Amino acid sequence: MKKYDVIVIGSGCGINVVDEALAHGLSVALVDKGPLGGTCANLGCIPSKMLIFAADRIADIEEAKKLGIEAEIRDVDFGFIMERMRQSIRENQEHMRQALSHIENLDFYEGEGHFVDGYIIEVNGERIKGNKIFIASGSRPFIPPIKGLEGLGYLTNETVLQLKERPDSLIVIGGGYIAVEYGHFFAATGTRVSILEMADRLVLAEEPEISQVLKNELGRRMDVYTGVQAEEVKSNGHDVTVVVKDSQGGGHKEFTAQKILVAVGRKSNADLLKVENTGVEVDKRGFIQVNEYLETTKKNIYAVGDINGQQMFTHVANVEASLAADNAIHGNKKKMDYGAAPHAVYTHPQIASVGMTEETARKSHKVLIGKAKYSDVAQGEAMMEEIGFAKAVVDAVNGKLLGFHIIGPYAPILIQEAINAMASGGGIDQTRTSMHIHPSITELIPEVLSNLKNSTS
Ligand SMILES: Cc1cc2nc3c(=O)[nH]c(=O)nc-3n(C[C@H](O)[C@H](O)[C@H](O)COP(=O)(O)OP(=O)(O)OC[C@H]3O[C@@H](n4cnc5c(N)ncnc54)[C@H](O)[C@@H]3O)c2cc1C
Repeated sequence: MKKYDVIVIGSGCGINVVDEALAHGLSVALVDKGPLGGTCANLGCIPSKMLIFAADRIADIEEAKKLGIEAEIRDVDFGFIMERMRQSIRENQEHMRQALSHIENLDFYEGEGHFVDGYIIEVNGERIKGNKIFIASGSRPFIPPIKGLEGLGYLTNETVLQLKERPDSLIVIGGGYIAVEYGHFFAATGTRVSILEMADRLVLAEEPEISQVLKNELGRRMDVYTGVQAEEVKSNGHDVTVVVKDSQGGGHKEFTAQKILVAVGRKSNADLLKVENTGVEVDKRGFIQVNEYLETTKKNIYAVGDINGQQMFTHVANVEASLAADNAIHGNKKKMDYGAAPHAVYTHPQIASVGMTEETARKSHKVLIGKAKYSDVAQGEAMMEEIGFAKAVVDAVNGKLLGFHIIGPYAPILIQEAINAMASGGGIDQTRTSMHIHPSITELIPEVLSNLKNSTS
């Protein structure tokens, strides 16, 4: 049996561990069942944002009318948009494969691995042993137990990327970030989209007022239903019908479309790894339990990225992987801190958020709330941006920033100033008083922080 200093399972954020271990002169085995590079590069962030970039341009053109520009889109080449994305992914995967094949001290096992015992993994019928093991095996789409769904040919974030032709109509089951991102893409390219969300609002992780603005705005371009639970799916060979229970109005309703996209959340890949064969424990949802050092319940086995179910975003996964590698390889004891972990939702309008929502913060802090609309600053006015706003949640006792939330154009860029403030201790004085270019939409950030009050209104 071949023995390694380090075994890494998963080539997404796991690559950070591979790099660190190799740089330290250790022998490394990388195990991945594909697609090489993991979810973000092949099935998640990158392909979705390549598609959404095109959707954003379409939305810009459609909205130009409010500025007095009469523009008409003559054609949207759906096949081209999809193929550009697939081509880029193929090329990146090929580069990665080439790079891996030339690295000394690294063996790449392309196949599905599982634990057979303590520190032994079996892959492609071969057993390998590691002194330290990093589980970075990610997550996959969660498919809810809806009657009739299995065997119906529904789309997920994985299969949707293989579409060659645009569906005329699409039902999206779910109202989280994947649902509202793909809802935006398909609606922009011309599909009639219906979003069916079980909860009483979209994007539950966000501030309720952000959910409300999003629902109103998406509702201008697609049908959005909240408080509806999909119970059954039927097909007539051509179209699919989703039967939902309406939690507000009572009774049942039916929605029919050419295709269904299921986007209701993520499932842990820990089951594929048979972690029960080692001492690694999972939580109630099946994600691997870790402590603040990202150690599992078994010594010398770490779990990083989606597989530990903490904050399932690439930038978080990469920081976790680097931190765990640092702890394991350099013998450090650094704790993972999620306090300034941000995220963005590339729907239309865009959303970005970092830290606590007002409701969460109020449970443990006395808070001040600041709010400002894009149109409160000169550039927002120039953009005729009437909907977008930002909100700050600040600790009333020490004046530190606890959370920041934005909905509107460039939200993922604008939020960085708040992320930096939080990452460097939460002080807001510098952000509030330092010069911001006038006019620029960045003036929104000090504007919000100058409006702090005891309550939201
Ligand atoms: C549609 C979509 C859009 C997203 N957009 C964003 C975004 O814009 N920004 C953002 O930050 N995050 C986004 N995410 C989330 C992001 O993709 C994940 O948080 C990130 O990819 C997790 O990385 P990871 O390394 O933990 O897992 P992964 O990248 O999933 O890597 C795990 C790898 O392990 C392999 N594997 C699993 N089990 C085994 C096994 N038993 N044996 C061998 N190999 C195995 C898998 O095949 C995979 O290659 C998006 C996700 C989706 C689905």
